[in-house]
Amino acid sequence: MTKLKDLEEYREEIEQCVRCGACRAHCPVFGVEKHEGRVARGKVALAGAVLDGEIGLEAKVLEDLSQCLLCGSCCAQCPNKVPTEEIVAAARRRIAEQRGLSSFGKALTAVLGRPKLMNMLAKTGGALSSLLFKQLPENSGLRLRFPAPYIDAGRTLPPIAAKPFRERVPERIPGKEGAPTVAFFTGCGINYMYPAIGEAFLKILKFLGVTVIIPKDQACCGLPAVSAGAAKTVEELAARNLAALNRIPADYVVTACASCNAGIGKIYADLGGDYPALAAKTMDIFVFLAKHGLPEKLAALPKAAKRIKVTYHDPCHLRTRGITKEPRQILKALPQVEFVEMAAAGTCCGLGGTYSVYHYETSKKIGAKKAANIGASGAELVATDCPGCIMQLQDSVNHAGLSQQVVHLLELVVAALPDTK
Ligand code: SF4
Ligand code: SF4
Repeated sequence: MTKLKDLEEYREEIEQCVRCGACRAHCPVFGVEKHEGRVARGKVALAGAVLDGEIGLEAKVLEDLSQCLLCGSCCAQCPNKVPTEEIVAAARRRIAEQRGLSSFGKALTAVLGRPKLMNMLAKTGGALSSLLFKQLPENSGLRLRFPAPYIDAGRTLPPIAAKPFRERVPERIPGKEGAPTVAFFTGCGINYMYPAIGEAFLKILKFLGVTVIIPKDQACCGLPAVSAGAAKTVEELAARNLAALNRIPADYVVTACASCNAGIGKIYADLGGDYPALAAKTMDIFVFLAKHGLPEKLAALPKAAKRIKVTYHDPCHLRTRGITKEPRQILKALPQVEFVEMAAAGTCCGLGGTYSVYHYETSKKIGAKKAANIGASGAELVATDCPGCIMQLQDSVNHAGLSQQVVHLLELVVAALPDTK
């Protein structure tokens, strides 16, 4: 099995940090905590010291290295393009190797590595939903009725699907002859919590005549395990997904989750072997739709008499890889939408994989800034391209006492298409 890079393999990149501090202005964690250990250069220096054995893995070091969203905003602004998020992830793997995973990391990997157990837990959660959760006003989410490990009682959560998305649909949905075939990598968010996004995906691709294959044996992309430092789990999930996706005769692997897109398109690509070829044919859904004529088809529809103001949040895993134009192009073409840009649309929402589990209070402060920008934009709806961002943004909007709903952009697209209603 191919392996993720060891911290030692980042020595050169660590040495490229010239401590200029340009990253301070762009780190969401530093922006609310104002603490040097929270900013990229502090974490790069700590990772370097861990690598050279200059410091041990005492509690303070672990705390500072856990204080990173892995959002990549610093790298995008760094004059030397120091990949802090990769260095921090490698440092977490080193820590897990030497000290073992945290208790949450152990619980997480036990579930992620066992899709059958994950299915069973999700179905049980879905069946007991009304007992476990209370509904928030305006259908803006759920809150736990009882305290539960790793989940803050004040956190807005989406409902768990009574039946996972992949169990609701056939594995192959044929399209028109001559149209492309795509493998739909659903990810866990769509499969277990937001099946409506998956249904919208299928209806839109049916409208375009595309054949869709939804491999039943796909697993979690592994991004939560990257965040937790669980190297073996990431490598095992990658191998499972490589096998599931490579047995499909698809032109593209298409994702509707920014994290899954980065998982297959970036993290797996670094594993070498057959992974770069898989990464090369992996595409975000809005890039795919823009390439296959959807904006033009939408622009030809009659404009609605009353349009709804919608703003867009850029998920970090797309923004840092240059995918910002296509979702806006599609939003602007929607007949029922008036697009409004919010300030700092590309700033991290504060979720950061396991970050918001360990550091929910800081995550909430980052989310509060986002919510203020959403409120100031005048938008009635927030659209994005990542189930994780939807969950975090809805929580932030609710905490701010605002009324906006957060949706996946696919849900707005499907509402505009006449043949899919
Ligand atoms: S990580 Fe980049 S931006 Fe930050 S201090 Fe180092 S060189 Fe400067
Ligand atoms: S990856 Fe994000 S959270 Fe981590 S140091 Fe860079 S900007 Fe800050």
